[in-house]
Amino acid sequence: MIDKTPEEVLKLLSHRGGFNSDILRIIANRGPARPLGQEMPWVLKKQLGRMGIRTDDPGAIFESLKRLNWPKQQYEALKRRYPNLKCLVRSENQLAIGTTSEARFNGDYYKLRTGYVLTFPLGAHTFLRSLAEMFGAMTDLVFRETMARGFSESTGLPNWWLIRKIRSVRVKAAINKRVKDEVSDLAYDAERTFRSYTDIGAAEISWFREKCGPMPLSAGMFGHPLEVGSHLSLFATNFLVLHELGHVNHDHDPRLVNDPAQSISSEFQADRFAINTILNAPIGEIEKMAGLVGAFFFLYVAVRLEELGEAEDAITHPSASARLDQLLEALATHDTSREVKYVFTSMTLQLARIGDLFRKESMLPAEKLSNTVRRILYGSIEFNMTQAFVEQVLRWMLIGSPDKLCQYLGNLKFQLEAKLREEPDQRDVVAFGLIAEVYEVTKDNFIIRDKLDIAYRNAVSGRETAEQASG
Ligand SMILES: [Zn+2]
Repeated sequence: MIDKTPEEVLKLLSHRGGFNSDILRIIANRGPARPLGQEMPWVLKKQLGRMGIRTDDPGAIFESLKRLNWPKQQYEALKRRYPNLKCLVRSENQLAIGTTSEARFNGDYYKLRTGYVLTFPLGAHTFLRSLAEMFGAMTDLVFRETMARGFSESTGLPNWWLIRKIRSVRVKAAINKRVKDEVSDLAYDAERTFRSYTDIGAAEISWFREKCGPMPLSAGMFGHPLEVGSHLSLFATNFLVLHELGHVNHDHDPRLVNDPAQSISSEFQADRFAINTILNAPIGEIEKMAGLVGAFFFLYVAVRLEELGEAEDAITHPSASARLDQLLEALATHDTSREVKYVFTSMTLQLARIGDLFRKESMLPAEKLSNTVRRILYGSIEFNMTQAFVEQVLRWMLIGSPDKLCQYLGNLKFQLEAKLREEPDQRDVVAFGLIAEVYEVTKDNFIIRDKLDIAYRNAVSGRETAEQASG
């Protein structure tokens, strides 16, 4: 492995080419399935059209979308804004950047003799995107305007806030009129989204209830390009990419995990690189604020995931809240203007307050929600849309974590078998049938079949161990 080029190693790590087309074939073979890109917003369609992607054919949409590599694209865009990124490596062949389904939330860093490989979790994009939409919906006008200006400066796109003054009037009216019910729905959606990332490595689908269909396969690009959610998630994912580039910049040795103190200090160092890249860049103050608010949002989300059990190895990795503290301290001691510090503080306090409100107003906090797979399974039975469940599972395989997904499916199969032997109700019978159908349609895909078998065997042997211990 050590003599392979970074691109070759990246290919080995993602090995999803065959896997993707295999799952797509299964979806297609299921007959008149729902179109893959059905719910795509028109703005996104237009955007894709401009990129030369055909939007009339769902298959073509996905074929093109899965080639879209968001961290790589963001890296290219970041290099244009932050000149210090241009000389991280001597030649671009030394750095390969891509997505894999099983990477950690923070991304993974590999050092080879030939260069570096950075991989990012595929589902992190959909997750941060949906969450940013929900948090963004609760922000005030100053927040939205600052993010829109930062977004416009960083992408070179026109500032729609200035062009469409009328929007701010409409948004203001919507903010004022927001009723308690709406807030608690939003809060529940946000909590579910946190939970679903720890369960399946991707965002859940808020369309499931309203539109009665599986999630569109738009590779995490949903969202309105003029809205604060898109701006916030762009800057949050930028920070994620900048952190990993920090490891490249310091030429860190990933084998340091054997030395916890060193490993923790290199994590902090990578964060500091990301923060200083933003603070010291020759860009305007608004763009800096937007970048720093994105960093805050990313770390804030990481704190919540840690609370839900999605923690990095605590011995070799600093806690997300320690990383958040470092961000605040780095900004406080930097000689950037007081205006940047002041606006940053008020915007991030707002995000933290929204997070608290979501936890308080949601009818169920994330930790009390049942597992995403189980919830969607029984939800689809309750709403009489059982076919959507099987399709949803197949789509999650493409953008979420197949490992986690198969683990839950194997466990569920085991639990339902036990239930059917004892006192099954009609819903359990249907649920078991649906799980069996997932097994059946994926039986020729050896990757999934193995994962499902292992999960099921673990569930069985876990039960046996427990029985032995008690007996
Ligand atoms: Zn790191």
